[in-house]
Amino acid sequence: MCTEHSFGGMDRRDFLKLGAAGLAGAVLLGTSGATGSRVLAQTGSSLMAEFESASREYGVPRELLLAMGYVNTMWEMPPPEVSAYREDDIHGRGAYGIMQLMQNPSQNSLRKAVKLTRLSEKELKNDRTANIRGGTAILAEIQGQDKPADLNGWQEAVAEYGSIDLYAVEVYETLKSGASATISTGESLQLSPQDVEVPQILTARSSAGYRGAIWRPAHRSNYTNRNRGAKQINRIIVHVAQGTYSGTIDWFQYSGSNVSAHYVVGKKGQVAQCVRNEDIAWHAGKWSYNTKSIGIEHAGYAGNPKTWTDRMYRSSAKLSAYLSKRYNISVDRRHFIGHREVPGVDKTCPGSYFNWDRYLRLVRRYK
Ligand SMILES: [Zn+2]
Repeated sequence: MCTEHSFGGMDRRDFLKLGAAGLAGAVLLGTSGATGSRVLAQTGSSLMAEFESASREYGVPRELLLAMGYVNTMWEMPPPEVSAYREDDIHGRGAYGIMQLMQNPSQNSLRKAVKLTRLSEKELKNDRTANIRGGTAILAEIQGQDKPADLNGWQEAVAEYGSIDLYAVEVYETLKSGASATISTGESLQLSPQDVEVPQILTARSSAGYRGAIWRPAHRSNYTNRNRGAKQINRIIVHVAQGTYSGTIDWFQYSGSNVSAHYVVGKKGQVAQCVRNEDIAWHAGKWSYNTKSIGIEHAGYAGNPKTWTDRMYRSSAKLSAYLSKRYNISVDRRHFIGHREVPGVDKTCPGSYFNWDRYLRLVRRYK
């Protein structure tokens, strides 16, 4: 086990011995038992310990929880407001916390988590420990009585948890490759590579536009049918999803979301096309910008500098180079804009960590 905590290599027991007095703001409310076991260890608590505790309580493999947390938010706990449900807002999917508990008109795993854990909605949305317990309880319930020791036995439950097969692909790719990161609390975590199979899914290449993308069409009620060509397309709009690759695609496939982007790019550089280039996707929040642009979503969070992985920059820049060539879009900051530059809309997307110089340099190189 390769865990390293932020408290100078203390293990969990040492940390607990320190108690609240040793750690300003630490709150440990511990009663445990079969009925409503409840541990809220906040400021200073270790994420690894929280995963371990949820793993033991619900009989879900710790490695699986680690992989899910990494795919979801790169092990960070985003504040609920960044992706709270907001009608007709492309970044308002209603996905909460490190376990991406959902609450929107099509899904309500948050309510299910309240029932299973007896924690409140507010706790589940705001408190990392609670959020992890909630997500773990849901996965355990989806899996049912039989809890396989083999990680591969959880594939279907993971796909159901994410409500899309691509989620299981993301999680099992992460299990296979392993992951490591130092998160914003200072804690370093590591998931060592696991011997698992990545689920085989339909990966039809997009014939609707970019050949480097898989084709995962948005629901037809989430975009406008058109026949745009180079004369009508003159801009690329860059977004950050405030969520995952698979979750964003899933949201575009739900008929009631009323949002879509042409492309979604993932952390490993994977690309999905969801709307034909010729059609008008609903991403900019302003019609006059939607009609003339192509929208590219990127998995991750505006507030997390680690969102912009090397593979993501390269893969997205290759896509943009293709679009720029095909539709004669100049590679400059007048024609490549961030969502926040659309007047009167979202001021955070894609956020200050997106490196425009680097991106445009890459686009020019690939063109
Ligand atoms: Zn945006």
